[in-house]
Amino acid sequence: MSKISNLVRPNIRVLKPYSSARDEYTGKIGTFLDANENSLGSVSAEKNNRYPDPYQSDVKNQLTEILDIQAKNIFLGNGSDEAIDLLIRIFCEPGQDEILILPPTYGMYKVAADINNVHISEVPLDGDFDLDVDAILDAVKANTKMIFICSPNNPSGNIMAKQRVEKVIENFDGIVVVDEAYIDFSKKENMLHYFETYPNLVVLRTFSKAWGMANIRLGMAFGDAELIQFMNNVKPPYNVNGVTQNIALNALQSLEKKNKMLQEIIDGRDALQKALADFPFVEKIYPSDANFILVKFTDSAKIFQFLLDKKIIVRDRSKQHGCDNCLRITVGTKDENSKLMDALQELTQ
Ligand SMILES: *Cc1c(COP(=O)(O)O)cnc(C)c1O
Repeated sequence: MSKISNLVRPNIRVLKPYSSARDEYTGKIGTFLDANENSLGSVSAEKNNRYPDPYQSDVKNQLTEILDIQAKNIFLGNGSDEAIDLLIRIFCEPGQDEILILPPTYGMYKVAADINNVHISEVPLDGDFDLDVDAILDAVKANTKMIFICSPNNPSGNIMAKQRVEKVIENFDGIVVVDEAYIDFSKKENMLHYFETYPNLVVLRTFSKAWGMANIRLGMAFGDAELIQFMNNVKPPYNVNGVTQNIALNALQSLEKKNKMLQEIIDGRDALQKALADFPFVEKIYPSDANFILVKFTDSAKIFQFLLDKKIIVRDRSKQHGCDNCLRITVGTKDENSKLMDALQELTQ
């Protein structure tokens, strides 16, 4: 048995996936009387009467061109959140297995594990919010099936040292998920192609951040073909709707627009970091490889409420591990960033 299928839950290993009408005939032209659709058309103005491609081949082929990764190594889901949930369901036996998370980190790993009745162990990041490799490997038990690494990390903003991530992958006999939702905002090296070296690595990406398409709910997972096949076996047949597929396909042809916005956000981030440093109530600005900044204040609760009263909403992360008095601020438009600065300026008077 291969390493991957050895790690998969036994019921998933032998699962015979649902076979949809569109699995049996993949041609685009024909007289389609197979799926009980409404052949006359749609009530909506746009034609929506046909089921979408269950494997999103057009979007994947476009991704192949841009990222140099084959379709068999790509999973597309209803947001990265779907990929996180599927991975936990594929590898973790409820009430028995466990995942490792590294706080402070993205909240969905814990929620997805809780929903699936999968245990959670926590190994905090070190003082610089980087991986504590020895502590992570020490915490691994016989029932530890997955480790979730968020890099760049939400909410701290930093990318993890690549050698440390590799050390974890190399020394862990389970699945390592590296969530690269914010990687476009970083100038440092990503791990996208590392699944070619490490079959136990899955990299997550999303259209929700740099692409500016949180509304269409499209997340990506990249990994070993066998692992991706298990994700396809377990997913709902039409998990990514056709409207989303069309919008994504168009967007993938507008790389320049993405890159232009990306640069503007990175410039905005640098400007915000500089401006924030001048306020007496700002204690620390954490380095960011993302489109947000974690900021430690002398009294974050006061700042949070003051901003909220002005209808400027930032994210209170002060209860997260190692984030006392910290707020997470998303980089906005030039206008929005100025509004924030003007509001904070008022507090110094
Ligand atoms: C925003 C975010 C995502 C994106 O989730 P989607 O479901 O694709 O919108 C994934 N991971 C992290 C760490 C995030 O902050």
